Amino acid sequence: MASFDNQPGPIACYNLFTADPVLPDAVRREGGDVGLLEAFGSVVGTEQTRELGRLANKNTPILHTHDPRGERIDEIEYHPAYHTILELAVDAGIHCMRYEQPAGEGAYVTRNALMGLITQIEMGHGCPTSMTSGALVTLRNQPDIAEIWEPLTVSRNYDKDLKPLSEKTGVLIGMGMTERQGGSDVRANTSRAQPVGAGGPGAEYRLEGHKWFTSAPMCDAFLVLAYAPKGMSCFLVPRVLPDGNRNSLFYLRLKDKLGNRSNASAELEFSNTAGWLIGEEGRGIPTIIEMVHSTRLDVANWGVSLMRQAVSQAGWHVANREAFGAQLLDKPLMQNVLADLEIEVETATLMITRLSGAHERMDVDDHEKSFARLATPIAKYWLTKQSNPVVREALECVGGNGYVEDSMMPRLYREAPLNAIWEGAGNVIALDIGRAAAKNPESVTAFLSELEMARGRDGYLDKQLDDLQVTLREPLPEVEARRLVEKLARTWAATLVLEHGDPAVSDAYFCSRIAGDHGSLFGTLPASCDLDYIARRAVPA
Ligand SMILES: Cc1cc2nc3c(=O)[nH]c(=O)nc-3n(C[C@H](O)[C@H](O)[C@H](O)COP(=O)(O)OP(=O)(O)OC[C@H]3O[C@@H](n4cnc5c(N)ncnc54)[C@H](O)[C@@H]3O)c2cc1C
Repeated sequence: MASFDNQPGPIACYNLFTADPVLPDAVRREGGDVGLLEAFGSVVGTEQTRELGRLANKNTPILHTHDPRGERIDEIEYHPAYHTILELAVDAGIHCMRYEQPAGEGAYVTRNALMGLITQIEMGHGCPTSMTSGALVTLRNQPDIAEIWEPLTVSRNYDKDLKPLSEKTGVLIGMGMTERQGGSDVRANTSRAQPVGAGGPGAEYRLEGHKWFTSAPMCDAFLVLAYAPKGMSCFLVPRVLPDGNRNSLFYLRLKDKLGNRSNASAELEFSNTAGWLIGEEGRGIPTIIEMVHSTRLDVANWGVSLMRQAVSQAGWHVANREAFGAQLLDKPLMQNVLADLEIEVETATLMITRLSGAHERMDVDDHEKSFARLATPIAKYWLTKQSNPVVREALECVGGNGYVEDSMMPRLYREAPLNAIWEGAGNVIALDIGRAAAKNPESVTAFLSELEMARGRDGYLDKQLDDLQVTLREPLPEVEARRLVEKLARTWAATLVLEHGDPAVSDAYFCSRIAGDHGSLFGTLPASCDLDYIARRAVPA
């Protein structure tokens, strides 16, 4: 679109995959399907897809608790744009692709990159596709139930209507852990489950209690935690019962949220609600945690996708806007800001794609499994937190227009804090890193061995590696957990950018983030960095 009155207008249609300066090579290295991503990158980069994202968030979901006759229905009405974008994701297989090929053959890497592209345009629909993808890992703990649900879970049909399973052509599955008394501390849950008969794995129970946050309540079923006689247990709670009647699962209200507005999040109540036990009674947390391990990867991925989109928007704006007689992109201080942001996004992309490869191979490779155990919470902590200052600074690059809804920047800004909260808030994740280091020393060995490959190439980096070799082998005082995770993330990013990054980006990363020649805010890179070159990498081609 031609610039009108020096107004750049919305970002032009572009291929989100091929325009990314590091993603295609990173995906190739991890064994993903570059051709498929290239095709998808152009679909999600169109004005039409962006418009779907806008509409889905402007027209937020509505809860209908009753029908006109006063019967309980507990249904959510979404704008058609939300359904269209979710259908696009389901059709692409984002909720199921990891199961379509044997582990290690690249489907999970491809799927993660697809997810990273589409959530740049619309974040809210990522929640149900992420949960459905993770749910099957947990469901497989109960083979008789998985046998019924798996074919519909891996179906690429988006079937939005609530109906008996026998009539469905595809399902989505959500997750309910958080209660009023405790989100992080799920052991404080009060929901209870009693067996209908003898109980045991796969048996029917009846649930009483509530969940404080259950996102994507239009899903066909939820994996929930509740206390059974032998302790905290995991249940599959469908919305429609096998006999075709509705389960007694009641939605009290939808949360009025800061962001992620296209995605409904409900407060729900169990009252004689039917649920089927997944795995052993009393083993609910380890059973559901397998799902959480993969949703944490997705949430970290969303941190990166927010950063990428915000910095692309900033790059587009400054490349098409003049001030004081020149393009903003040619102004040295703007170059410094944009380059500083771009460095953050590129290293984040390298981290998430490396982690994606580890998740791809962790069922067939012990090193990858151990690496992922530590690298997943590190990425979840760091990438979701970093997206906040990155999106904020990118918004400022767009000036006053960045504060206006038309620009998409306010939506990205509102999304950013969420990823650091759900699937484990920052402190909880930082503490989990200490737990992983103590309980799974092999995860420390695997993680450090990967970092050690960069030893001998930079004195400051070697010093950090020396420190980590000591710190990670000692008990971690809780109070120092965040200091450690920052160090781990920065050092990991440094080793990746050194090995795989552009040399100018790598130089800038090292002098600012590793040698410490950097302020506390963005735009403080030393002038010796190739700012002009790095800044231009942020402009989507
Ligand atoms: C939009 C949205 C959608 C959501 N969707 C779902 C969903 O679908 N299903 C679901 O189950 N949940 C969902 N959640 C809930 C989310 O997972 C919880 O909010 C999150 O786990 C934190 O729990 P909490 O809100 O109870 O906060 P708390 O557990 O009370 O934590 C508050 C703060 O205390 C910190 N903290 C906790 N423990 C410690 C400690 N030991 N030491 C130091 N600090 C600590 C936390 O890091 C956090 O900063 C959703 C939340 C949001 C905002």
